[in-house]
Amino acid sequence: RTAYVNGRYVAHGDAHVHIEDRGFQFADGVYEVVSVVDGVFADEDGHLARLSRSLNELELPWPMHPMSLRFVMREVARRNRVRNGLVYVQITRGQAPRDFRFPVDPAPTLVVTCRSTKFSAPQQLEKGVSVITIPDIRWARRDIKSVALLPQVLGKQRAAEAGAFEAWQVDPDGTVTEGCSSNAWIVTNEGVLVTRAASTRILNGITRLSLLAEAEAAGIPFEERAFTVEEAYAAREALISSASTFCVPVTRIDGKPVGDGVPGPLGRRLRQAYLAHVGVDDPV
Ligand code: PLP
Repeated sequence: RTAYVNGRYVAHGDAHVHIEDRGFQFADGVYEVVSVVDGVFADEDGHLARLSRSLNELELPWPMHPMSLRFVMREVARRNRVRNGLVYVQITRGQAPRDFRFPVDPAPTLVVTCRSTKFSAPQQLEKGVSVITIPDIRWARRDIKSVALLPQVLGKQRAAEAGAFEAWQVDPDGTVTEGCSSNAWIVTNEGVLVTRAASTRILNGITRLSLLAEAEAAGIPFEERAFTVEEAYAAREALISSASTFCVPVTRIDGKPVGDGVPGPLGRRLRQAYLAHVGVDDPV
């Protein structure tokens, strides 16, 4: 396997960054994940636009021209013979003597890795997945795709221990923000698709944005607003979306069945619409 680190393609096992890299010392960095489906980089423009925004919020410069980064992402996928997988782009403020303040002359670290993946087990689409709910203990700038992921690590571990696929994080007012690595959706009994509006309280998912555009184009009624855990328990359907899952039905929340406990038609329709938008067949 091959990784790209600061201008060089290196064997994955030898790829490294310095112990004084600010990504390691302070989680001072951002990342993006782009799925590669049948060789197609899904929603790449959206992911690079969000990367640009994340970099800007942290006052980090682009480590290379975005067009060059597109090339590196393809080259890493090619060298790893990945036609179906995930490309990770990680940018930190680079190596500098430990000091909280920005280094005067920063040299950002850029790492690009890629791995093959099976997008969803067929069972996940046939039966749906379970989620648990947990308090959202994250910081106030969840709109930045920061590499500081400790709350998500703890949340996913709790989900795994509960036999669930994802943990939905809940704000103190009882509203669901999002999953640990996905956006959260419900379909009300009136057939309205609901997902939280973009703000500093969630990461504005690129898949989320495409699904909303697809819903709009298909005339599916939707609302961008916060919903409570109780509303989710009472929903007809529930879904998660992300670059690595596209759109997967949620059939249990905290052990309670959603609707009649089987994946619903709107979720299926949205997944198909998303894959058609990317221009590929469902890899499952
Ligand atoms: N929310 C969080 C916290 C995430 O980490 C992710 C993706 O990793 C998402 C939402 C989904 O975003 P996207 O659709 O861009 O993958």
